[in-house]
Amino acid sequence: MPQTQFDVVIAGGAVVGSAVAYFLTADAGFKGSVAVIEPDPTYQHCATALSAASIRHQFSTEENIRMSRFGTEFLRTFADALAVDGIRPDPAFHEGGYLFLATSAGLPVLQDNHALQRREGADVALLDAAALQARFPWLRTGDLAAGSLGLSGEGWLDAYGLLQGLRRKAVAQGAVYLPQRVAGIDRVSARVTGVRLDDGQVLACGALVNAAGVGAPALARLAGIDLPVQARKRSVFYVQCPERLPGCPMVIDPSGAYFRPEGPGFITGIAPPPDQDPECFDFEVQHTLFEDVLWPLLAQRVPAFEALRCVRSWAGHYDMNLVDQNVILGLHPSLDNLYFANGFSGHGLQQAPAVGRALAELIVHGEYRTLDLARLGWRRILEGRPVIEKNVV
Ligand SMILES: Cc1cc2nc3c(=O)[nH]c(=O)nc-3n(C[C@H](O)[C@H](O)[C@H](O)COP(=O)(O)OP(=O)(O)OC[C@H]3O[C@@H](n4cnc5c(N)ncnc54)[C@H](O)[C@@H]3O)c2cc1C
Repeated sequence: MPQTQFDVVIAGGAVVGSAVAYFLTADAGFKGSVAVIEPDPTYQHCATALSAASIRHQFSTEENIRMSRFGTEFLRTFADALAVDGIRPDPAFHEGGYLFLATSAGLPVLQDNHALQRREGADVALLDAAALQARFPWLRTGDLAAGSLGLSGEGWLDAYGLLQGLRRKAVAQGAVYLPQRVAGIDRVSARVTGVRLDDGQVLACGALVNAAGVGAPALARLAGIDLPVQARKRSVFYVQCPERLPGCPMVIDPSGAYFRPEGPGFITGIAPPPDQDPECFDFEVQHTLFEDVLWPLLAQRVPAFEALRCVRSWAGHYDMNLVDQNVILGLHPSLDNLYFANGFSGHGLQQAPAVGRALAELIVHGEYRTLDLARLGWRRILEGRPVIEKNVV
C-alpha cells in the first residue's frame, strides 16, 4: 500500500522544495516523514534549471546578504556534506565575483550598499574609474564613477547540479518524491489537513510547504490565500566573442544589463522595460530585446562585444513578488501549518540553502534558530511595510 500520510508535504521539488526536504531530513530534532510533490522530474521548465545560476553578497538588505553568505558557505562544503554512498556531488562553484558599476548618479546608493555589505562581512572592494580601467582594460569606464567588486564568495555554479545534489541527499535521508501535482488542498478551519494530487490520490499531512515557484499563487489560492506573486519572463542569451576578457566577473551595468563568462563565451540578459513586462507563462525568447536594447548596451560597455555572436538563448520566469521583490517566507497568519517560500524575484537559487534551513527550523522548532528571517514574513505584506531590495537584477 502506498503511504498516504506524511508529516510534511512539500509542493514543488526544484531547488527550494529540495532544500527544505534536505534540511528537514537532516535535522536531528525531526523524526517525521516528508513527501515532495514534483510534477516534472525533468525540471525543464522550472526557474531553477533556467536561471543564470549566480550568487552574490551585494544586496541592500541584511537578510539577503546573510542568506547569500550562508549560500556560499553551503556551496563550499556541498560535495562532502551531500555525498551519498561515497559519490560527492559537484555544484561547479566558481568564485568569479560580481562587479556592480555605477555612474555618479548611482554612486551614493553603491556606497551605502557597500558600507552595509562590509558591516555584514562581505568581501567586497570599491574601485574608482581608474582602478576599474587598470583591472579590467577591456571595460569602457568613461561614464563610470565607481564599481563594487566581490573579491571572494560570489560567483556562479551549476544550478541543476545543486538541485540534484539536494534531491539525492534528501531521498537518501528518507524523503519521498512523487511525480504528481498538488491540485487541491483540504482545510479544516485554520489547518491544512491534506492535499489532493492530480491522479486523485489524497495525502494527509501535518504541514504543507508551498515551494511551487511561479505555480505558488495558484497553489495559495487553493487554500484561499492571495499571494502577490506573478510570473515575469526573463530571457538569457549565450554569446561568443572573438576577444577574451581576462578576469571577467559577473558584471552588472548601470543600465541593468548583466554578463558573465560561461564556458568559452558569456551569458547575458536584461529585464524588459516595466511597461513591457506583463505576467507571462510562455517560453518565447525576447529576441528584439537582445537586438534593440541589450546588444547596444553591451557594445557600449565592452567594445569587444561589438563583434559578439548570439549562439543560443532561452527564457524562464521569475516568481516576482509585486510588493517588494523579496521572498515571502513562513506561515500566513490565517493558517497554522501552511508554510510559504515564494516571490524570490530572481534571487532564489542562491537563497535556497538558507531558506531551506530556515523553514526546517520553523517547522521542527517553531522558530528561526540561525538567521532571523522574521522580517521577510507575511506580516510586512499584509501590513504594507515592504522590505525594499535595491539591488534586483
Ligand atoms: C532567467 C533567470 C535567471 C535567474 N538567475 C538567478 C541567479 O543568477 N541567481 C539566483 O539566485 N536566482 C536566479 N534566478 C531565480 C531562481 O532561479 C529562482 O528564484 C529559484 O530557482 C526558485 O526556485 P523554486 O524551487 O522556488 O522554483 P522553481 O525552480 O520554479 O520550481 C518550482 C517547482 O514547483 C513545481 N510546481 C508548480 N506547481 C506545482 C504544484 N501545484 N504542485 C507541485 N509542484 C508544483 C514545478 O514543477 C517546479 O519544478 C533566475 C531565474 C530566471 C528565470
